[in-house]
Amino acid sequence: MSLEKTPVTIVTGFLGAGKTTLIRHLLQNPGGRRLAVLVNEFGDVGVDGDLIRACADAMCPEANIVELTNGCICCTVADEFIPSIERLMALSPRPDHIVIETSGLALPKPLLKAFDWPDLRSKITIDGVVAVADAEAVAAGLFTPDPARPGSVAEAGADHETPLSEVFEDQIACADLVLLSKADLAGESGLEAAKAVIAAEAPRPLPMLPLTEGVIDARVVLGIGAAAEDGIDARPSHHDGEAEHDHDDFDTLVVDLPEVDDPEALAAKVAALAGAQGILRVKGHVAVAGKPMRLLVQAVGARVRHQFDRPWGAQPRQGRLVVIAEKGDLDAAAVRAALA
Ligand SMILES: [Zn+2]
Repeated sequence: MSLEKTPVTIVTGFLGAGKTTLIRHLLQNPGGRRLAVLVNEFGDVGVDGDLIRACADAMCPEANIVELTNGCICCTVADEFIPSIERLMALSPRPDHIVIETSGLALPKPLLKAFDWPDLRSKITIDGVVAVADAEAVAAGLFTPDPARPGSVAEAGADHETPLSEVFEDQIACADLVLLSKADLAGESGLEAAKAVIAAEAPRPLPMLPLTEGVIDARVVLGIGAAAEDGIDARPSHHDGEAEHDHDDFDTLVVDLPEVDDPEALAAKVAALAGAQGILRVKGHVAVAGKPMRLLVQAVGARVRHQFDRPWGAQPRQGRLVVIAEKGDLDAAAVRAALA
């Protein structure tokens, strides 16, 4: 057995930033590495796990892909996260590199701290924390603190923070590398604007690279060699000093849908909903009349994508979408009515 520590990369980033797309690209282009993936999703539709399992191959068989859907892994570190990492470490052959996809609302710092446990510290090194940020959304100010919002004295440094800016700052502050996703949509000026926002938020200068459709050389993302477990204190969090944190600023709604006739019509409803209700993320599968394949629907704000991904097979043809919004923005009855 090798005494070398197994490197772990933590991929963080807000809902819909493109973490799963990045990890799929890494699995398809691992540069000879035997990868294992732990994927955590907020809401129990298992879309990301499915997308990642679809990339399973000889270098990363299905046994190397673990999915945790029971809330954010930052909240279940001892019960679920650490045992899952230990299971991946026990695989034979042992993975060369473990990639963790955190949920879009997860705080990366509790995970870094988990790796500080003596049991893991001797076997694992945190190779790097990679933050994926939607360049267009960052440039548009989605994650910028709101000066109109009263500063909170209870929480040091939380001046004018919005729920989104707070999560975003925690993710950026923990990062070793920032990937500005959807760079093609943002364009040069959007990328420059996004870089300026992130540079202002970051506690130290961070390398930032553009990313389109998750395409990047695995050598850029894996093998950073940050040994982040040695410098946790240099990564500030809004939750430093708190024994516990919560994700109370966000609400999740699961909507079951009957078969639809027209994918385009459904996509238009989802887009309209995002505009009307400030919905941050929609994703799930829907059954389309006469089609044996599941329709994967994913929306970030009003930008909706849909595609047939795989046959329903033995699974019941039950459409199900998870809708995530800021607390108070989600009117369940209105959402159900709009999607019906
Ligand atoms: Zn948490």
